[in-house]
Amino acid sequence: MPAELEKKLQWFNSTHNFQLRSSTNTSSQTNKKSDLFSFEKFIQRLQSFSLRTYTSKPIELSPPAVALKGWHHDQAHRNRLYCDKCKNGVVVDLSAAQTSTYQKLTDTFVQAIDSSHSVHCPWKYQQCPSSMYRLQELSLPPTLAANSIAERARLIDSNVKFSIQLVHPLSDMQIDSLINAFPDPKPSKESSILALYGWEFKSTSSNHDLLLVSQLDCAKVSLRSDKAMDVVREHRFYAPQLMPLTQGSNSNGVEALFALITRRGRKKHLEESFILNTVSRQDVLKNVKGLLSGSYQS
Ligand SMILES: [Zn+2]
Repeated sequence: MPAELEKKLQWFNSTHNFQLRSSTNTSSQTNKKSDLFSFEKFIQRLQSFSLRTYTSKPIELSPPAVALKGWHHDQAHRNRLYCDKCKNGVVVDLSAAQTSTYQKLTDTFVQAIDSSHSVHCPWKYQQCPSSMYRLQELSLPPTLAANSIAERARLIDSNVKFSIQLVHPLSDMQIDSLINAFPDPKPSKESSILALYGWEFKSTSSNHDLLLVSQLDCAKVSLRSDKAMDVVREHRFYAPQLMPLTQGSNSNGVEALFALITRRGRKKHLEESFILNTVSRQDVLKNVKGLLSGSYQS
């Protein structure tokens, strides 16, 4: 358990650094050992998917489902997956399926992607855990999750100079609770909603383009002053923000995250003392330095 918590804190720290790097353009790179089964490599595989050339898939064959099993998308060939370890490929095409044969064909392709790695390929014997494709903030204690979202919101605030128009499903009361859950300085209402829905500011070389991205489903949108952005519809269909938390669960990722951070007053003390007791105090302080205070340093 401590090792797992430590890993989560490290993940948190690395994304925190990533945001700092992208906003300040510092050249300090953390030299990480590239790990075949790592979160970073998983995201790289996910980024290879274009929904124009990897079309109409059920959730079992969605980009994250196959990327967890080592597959990239080969955009030069429609619906083709390939493995850059064993160089094998497989074409996942459901376009000829009738309603009656759709599930059977889906199952056949799920089997095919499991069995198409060569016998010498490490992906034949191991895959990434499905928990990798999950809102990582849900694994954090409520205070840290709230700080992480607030930080994302502040970064949007500090880069967008016009008033943002949004289409979103939250009530005024929910927005109040959301902002109350954040430490001072409070981000704007609009940026808070964007950040809750997983959107983060990405700096680009163009001064005109204000790009928001959602890391886990690799969605991108240009924020414009004359057009409202839909925080839900701009996500790809497999975004963990919109997916049921677990199979058959009533709440999606965003709802679970909202519940986690707005209940933090009650649970805060318990969870933080649990962390401090299980991970060495020094490691925690090193990893979350500056975050508990909620200050954003650039
Ligand atoms: Zn392979």
